[in-house]
Amino acid sequence: MAPRKFFVGGNWKCNGAGDDVKKIVTVLNDAEAPRAPSQVKGLLRPDFAVAAQNCWVRKGDAFTGEISAEMLVNLQVPWVILGHSERRALLSDQMIQGLKVIACIGETLEQREAGTTMEVVAAQTKAIAEKVSDWTNVMLAYESVWAIGTGKVASPAQAEEVHDGLRKWLNTNVTPAVAESIRIIYGGSVNGANCKELAAQPDLDGFLVGGASLKPEFVDIVKSAT
Ligand code: PEP
Repeated sequence: MAPRKFFVGGNWKCNGAGDDVKKIVTVLNDAEAPRAPSQVKGLLRPDFAVAAQNCWVRKGDAFTGEISAEMLVNLQVPWVILGHSERRALLSDQMIQGLKVIACIGETLEQREAGTTMEVVAAQTKAIAEKVSDWTNVMLAYESVWAIGTGKVASPAQAEEVHDGLRKWLNTNVTPAVAESIRIIYGGSVNGANCKELAAQPDLDGFLVGGASLKPEFVDIVKSAT
C-alpha cells in the first residue's frame, strides 16, 4: 500500500478578505493571488447576478465554516439569501458525495479530564462511519476542543495515542485497509514551533491549522514533515 501523503490544511475560518488574502497567498505562492473561484460566475452571462445561499451574521474572525458579507463582496457575489428554512447543520451521506471531506472529531477538556477521550472520539468516528461508504476521499481531523484557538497544543504523545487508537478502531470496525490508508490529521494550536515534533509521530498524517494558517509560519508547518 502506498504511504499516506502528508496533508496540511489552512482553516482561515471567517477571516481572509481583501488584503489579508493577498498577503497570505503571496507568502504561500510567491506569485499572484488567484482569481475568485466561481464556476457559475465564469459561465454566466454578465447580466445575470449570482447570490450566495447564506452568510455569516457578523464580521469575520474565528468562525469556521462561515462566509462573511465581506468575503462575498470580495468574490464579487452581490446577493445573498438569508434565513432560508432548508439550512441544516447535519452531516449526511448526500453531503459527502462528490466532495473531499475533512471530518473533525475531538473531546472537550471535561471529557479528557474524565478519561473518556477515546470513547468520545470513537463514538464520533462511528457516527461518521455510518454515513461513509467510500473512504477514499475522507480524512479524519483529530481536534480537541480545548486545543482549538487556545494556544494549548496536545503533546506529541497525547496526539499519537489518540491517532493510534483511531486507527485501531477503524481496523476493527471498518476495514484494515481503511485503517492503514486513511489520513488522520491533527488540529489544535499547531504553530511553526511545535509542528515538527508532532509531524514526526507515526500515526499523524498532517495538520488542520487555524490561527497560524494566516501567518507566514504556515509555510514551516506545510514543510514540517520534510
Ligand atoms: C481549527 O480551527 O481547526 C484550529 C485547529 O484552530 P487553531 O490552529 O487556531 O487552534
